[in-house]
Amino acid sequence: MTIEFRDVTKRYPDGTVAVDGLSLTVEDGTITVFVGPSGCGKTTSLRMINRMVEPTSGAVLLDGKDVADGDPALLRRGIGYVIQHAGLFPHRTVLDNIATVPLLSGWDKRKARTRAGELLETVGLPTELGKRYPAQLSGGQQQRVGVARALAADSPVLLMDEPFSAVDPIVREGLQDELLRLQSQLGKTIVFVTHDIDEAVRLGDKVAVMRVGGKLAQYGTPSDVLRH
Ligand code: ADP
Ligand code: ADP
Repeated sequence: MTIEFRDVTKRYPDGTVAVDGLSLTVEDGTITVFVGPSGCGKTTSLRMINRMVEPTSGAVLLDGKDVADGDPALLRRGIGYVIQHAGLFPHRTVLDNIATVPLLSGWDKRKARTRAGELLETVGLPTELGKRYPAQLSGGQQQRVGVARALAADSPVLLMDEPFSAVDPIVREGLQDELLRLQSQLGKTIVFVTHDIDEAVRLGDKVAVMRVGGKLAQYGTPSDVLRH
């Protein structure tokens, strides 16, 4: 799926302009990384794709269709979403966390859990971890579960907001490798947010550098961006 930001601006009710006139197209099957300092509008940009935030003006289009047309809850169910600290539901087992979206979509429990078990393997975790609760996992394992939960949406689009920022550097590298490996198999359209330029360059097919005030400062391949 392509994701197009068409002259998108977000001004929050308090007057803060978080994103200012953003136009770019995330091509199908690629990873685009939004990078820049804290407060430059990365998360806001990401959240306008799944309508957790609505633009003040402009539009976000998925395969040419304005995301504003239609039911936001349905839209979200069809878009994988991974956040920092995984955002797992603490009172659900790992398996039931991963099964969340299939269950919401009406799958029966058994089928949803079977699928969740497969996804645990996909992200490199042993199936025994499925019975545990999130607090019984390491930070890196929790992030893997977060990725598995997002993959369960079985959607062409994956939104990742600082998914690896809270884990230590060695684990982070493993997670980055894993994401690249997965992506080479799955070919999703991924929008990834980070404040870490090294991570952006490592993961991005395209890198969008934002600056405080919400303007796009640079956009291109990692080598384009590094040259400037
Ligand atoms: P980043 O992800 O790059 O850190 P954000 O998109 O979170 O940036 O925030 C961009 C700007 O918008 C910041 O100045 C932030 O304080 C502000 N902001 C974010 N969310 C809200 C909100 N709900 N209300 C008001 N201002 C907000
Ligand atoms: P519960 O059913 O336990 O109340 P929700 O489905 O309301 O859980 O999700 C809880 C939080 O998880 C929400 O605040 C939302 O930010 C986040 N979330 C989970 N899945 C998605 C998704 N696909 N898109 C956006 N946010 C999501």
